[in-house]
Amino acid sequence: MKLSKRLQLLHDLMDPGRNLADIGSDHALLPVACIQSGQAATAIAGELNEGPYEAAKRQVASSGLQAKIEVRRGDGLDVIEAGEVDTITIAGMGGALIANILERGKPKLKGVTRLILQPNVGEDILRRWLFDNDYVIEAERIIEEDGKIYEVIAAVPGYFSHISNDEVYEPKLIGTADHEIELTSNELLKMGPFLVEQGGSVFVKKWELEIDKIQKVLTSLSKSDLPEAKEKAEELQQELKRIEEVLTCMQKDKP
Ligand code: SAM
Repeated sequence: MKLSKRLQLLHDLMDPGRNLADIGSDHALLPVACIQSGQAATAIAGELNEGPYEAAKRQVASSGLQAKIEVRRGDGLDVIEAGEVDTITIAGMGGALIANILERGKPKLKGVTRLILQPNVGEDILRRWLFDNDYVIEAERIIEEDGKIYEVIAAVPGYFSHISNDEVYEPKLIGTADHEIELTSNELLKMGPFLVEQGGSVFVKKWELEIDKIQKVLTSLSKSDLPEAKEKAEELQQELKRIEEVLTCMQKDKP
């Protein structure tokens, strides 16, 4: 099974031999690849919707892996029993939906020692949920594939982690001595505590695109005389300035 670069990242962030549940599995590509490579010993492919559920069943059958992969139809973590899996992957949905699935399925997270998540948008909402529920991010990746930028987050329960959330979200200096900036905990939640340290061209591109979006909003706000519009514009100007400072520090850091 040849995975997309995006799904391959989730695959690579797993430890070998896990009992995996892939929620919102669609064609069950990830569970099939994880069983084939040995990353998973068993897998459950969970799907809410009829079409993707049938597609997952066909994929598992054509791979001949029915003994190791069960395809189950249901909403979020409803498809698993507590203690049944140790690793959960959820990819290709918004961060708010992923956070909602985890929130509603909390009792099923007992015994789960690794969450590997790929939000399409709303990464900050998902990081906030992980923080509030004492999951500690251990690794983050960012890639561009087919013109889209994706972030992947691997997190473990606090009791299982060698670092604490206080350390992960401690205000952080980035850049070089002559050009550095201290990022607040909230900014780390927004941009990714590990991604800001890694930097790189995809990270820079993501935030340049964000700057473009903010500038468009500022242009439309500038047409309004309402005090709320002025207030919002000031807030966005501040945000813009901070993002520009981060990018300047990164570009100085990595010529
Ligand atoms: N995970 C695959 C990937 O990343 O390539 C598929 C992503 S696809 C865009 C999202 C899938 O999640 C769809 O197949 C959809 O039916 C499923 N889905 C959406 N909400 C869900 C939920 N609450 N529980 C289970 N599956 C869900």
